[in-house]
This record gives sequence, C-alpha cells and structure tokens, in this order.
Amino acid sequence: MKVIVVGAGVVGAACAYEASGLGAEVVLVDADLPGRATAAGAGIICPWVPHADDEAWYAFACAAARRYPALAAELADSGAGDISYRRVGALIIAPNEDEVELECRRMLDLRAAAPELGEVRLVSAAEALDLFPPLRPGSMGAWIGGAGRVDGRRLRDCLVRAAHGRGAALVTGRARLVCRAGRAAGVEIDGQLMEADAVVAATGAWTTSFVEPAGVVVRVTPERGQIVHLQLGSADTSRWPVILPAASRHYLLAFEDSRVVAGATWEPASGFDARITAGGLGEVLAHALALAPGLVSATHLETRVGLRPAGPDVRPLLGSVSGVTGLVVATGLGASGLTLGPLAGAVAARAAIGVDQPIDLSLFDPLR
Ligand SMILES: Cc1cc2nc3c(=O)[nH]c(=O)nc-3n(C[C@H](O)[C@H](O)[C@H](O)COP(=O)(O)OP(=O)(O)OC[C@H]3O[C@@H](n4cnc5c(N)ncnc54)[C@H](O)[C@@H]3O)c2cc1C
Repeated sequence: MKVIVVGAGVVGAACAYEASGLGAEVVLVDADLPGRATAAGAGIICPWVPHADDEAWYAFACAAARRYPALAAELADSGAGDISYRRVGALIIAPNEDEVELECRRMLDLRAAAPELGEVRLVSAAEALDLFPPLRPGSMGAWIGGAGRVDGRRLRDCLVRAAHGRGAALVTGRARLVCRAGRAAGVEIDGQLMEADAVVAATGAWTTSFVEPAGVVVRVTPERGQIVHLQLGSADTSRWPVILPAASRHYLLAFEDSRVVAGATWEPASGFDARITAGGLGEVLAHALALAPGLVSATHLETRVGLRPAGPDVRPLLGSVSGVTGLVVATGLGASGLTLGPLAGAVAARAAIGVDQPIDLSLFDPLR
C-alpha cells in the first residue's frame, strides 16, 4: 500500500510516522510555504484552559494530551531525538483570590474525568514570582500540574526523522492533487506524476485549494498568529510554567535556552499574508510586558508568524472524504494543533490504510 502525505507540519509528520509504522510505503511531501503553523506554534499542551464547550473536541484534545509522554518516550527510544515536551505546569493568573479559587474549583471538577490534569492548588503572589520571576508582583494564580509545552519545530523534526527511519521518503515541492474517476490517483510535483493508493491532505491552511481537483469543498481559512521570542540573559527558564491570564488570550511560556515566548495575535482576516506587522508586534509586546514587566530588558530574538488552519467550528476536519476513494483530510486544528496534531496524524494514517480507529470519526467529517 502506497500513501502520499502532503504537508509535513505536525499533522503530516505524525501521519507519515504512523503510516510507515503500519507497514505502508510512504512519501511525505512539503513545499516549505511561508506561514507554516507548526514552525510558529507556541506549544502549550493544556486542553483544560480555556473552558471548551464542544464535547467531541474536548474528548479528542484530552486523548491527544494524554498520549504525549508516551510519544516523547517512543521517539527518544527510536533515536529520533528529544521532542522537548515537558510537563512544566501552568498558572492561570486571576485578579483576586476569589477568582483564583473559582479557577481551582473548575480545574478540580475537570480533573475527576481527566486525572492527567495533575495537581491543582492556589499559588500565592510570592510563589508565583518564584515560579516565573518576571511576573508583575502581586499576580496570583491557579496551578495546573499536568500542563505541558513542546517546541513545534523539534516535535515535527523528530517525527519526520522517525518516519524516515521507518522507510518514509521525503520530497520537497508543491504537490497538486490528481483525481481520476472518483478516486485520488496521486499527486503531481513539478509536472511529474506520483501515483498512490491513498493521498492524505495534511496541508493546513492551504487545504481548501489543495482538494479542489477532487470537486469537494473543505472549509479551512488561515488565521494569522504572530508570536515573539525573547531571551532573558542566562536565566534557567527550563522549568518555568506556562502563564495563562484568565481574562485574555495572550500568554507566556518558556523553553530551555533562557527563551521566553510571548503569544500571540489572532488575526482571522489575515488571508495568506504571513508578514510580521508593526501592530502585531506592538500588541504582543504590550500584553507581555503588562503581565510580566520583568521582561522589559529581555533581548528580542525573533518573531514567528504562522497561519492557523481554522475550520467552520473547533472540531478537526478529519477522515476519508466521502465520494472520493483514497482521499483523506487531516486539518482544521486551529489554535490547538500542536496538542491535537500527533493524534490527528495517527488517525489520518489509519484512515488512509483502512485499519481500526481509536475514535469515532463520524464526528469529524471533513466535508461538514
Ligand atoms: C502563533 C501560534 C501559536 C500557537 N500556539 C499553539 C499552542 O500553544 N498549542 C497548540 O496546541 N497549538 C498551537 N498553535 C496551533 C498549531 O501550531 C497549528 O494548529 C498546527 O501547527 C497545524 O499543523 P498542520 O500540520 O495542520 O499545519 P502546518 O504546520 O501549517 O503544515 C501544513 C504544511 O503543508 C504544507 N503544504 C501546504 N500545501 C502544500 C502543497 N500543495 N504541497 C506541499 N506542501 C504543502 C506547508 O508547507 C506546511 O508545511 C499555534 C499556532 C500559531 C500560529
């Protein structure tokens, strides 16, 4: 069985890894398009915040988050490297003790069905400063011990390496879907036809145009996110928690190399414009410095820009396309694709090959 996976973001890379593990002959194609979301994503793995209204999304996200420690261990054992996943915990910052207690109660309610949410407790302003020194003095919060973070680029690179180690071929180029008589026959790259038994569209924000030759409409739009990377002298930031203000979509997190990441803009009208803008940079820095004034003298390392693939609702667009044999879609992960991506990719691989699924795919019909 030959499977062509188009798109090597987190979803396509995970799909190629799973499909090659299931014995398929896999080709993973990517065009390195500007605005690839995985290369910009913050990497917060915390499906419990903000509160999710959609049960199917929430169940999928919890299952995906639960798999992370085992996936990290599996990839490390295979020699593919360290994906950088760490359970560093998260702090929901709220304006007063009553609100912090309310957040703690919400988290304790969720923990009953999701023990991986971990320890929940009130963190005083003094302890908050110990945990994340640049924070505004007086900030208190609710602690979620099970929250984690991962660097999307490292995760993707490890998955690609591991897929390659299992025999997957890697091709750079822009693929065009080729359909014949109601089936996905393969892709064309630079005028060359490459045939396959199944094609997986893991093409992120570009999926609507990619599947057009199949005569179907998959409703995905790009939502730009600009995110700023700062460096704080030689501070050991490796265990700093994720900072999630209760009243805002902006956040902070940290990685090993004294790196603090401040996110992010949310620009649903951006189209495919992957520029860094003055307004975007200003917005992210203003929120970051209000939350953590201690970042004021940090070095600006870089600003990353990604186009989140947003579907018509929060659920993934995932599974076989009805009416087009051999075409599988795996996208629509929006703002939580680094959390959901490894599981979504694995599910897409199983759909392409036609083996049992761990989840009910009828909830994620890509043509809805
Ligand atoms: C600023 C920002 C912050 C984020 N923070 C988080 C977070 O904290 N937690 C979280 O869980 N998620 C987060 N996300 C969301 C997450 O990054 C995305 O949902 C996820 O990376 C989407 O992965 P993907 O593989 O679907 O798409 P992408 O990573 O965009 O990959 C699609 C790939 O397809 C390729 N491609 C497209 N068309 C073609 C073609 N025709 N031929 C060949 N290649 C093609 C592109 O080059 C690209 O590499 C964030 C996103 C952004 C932008």
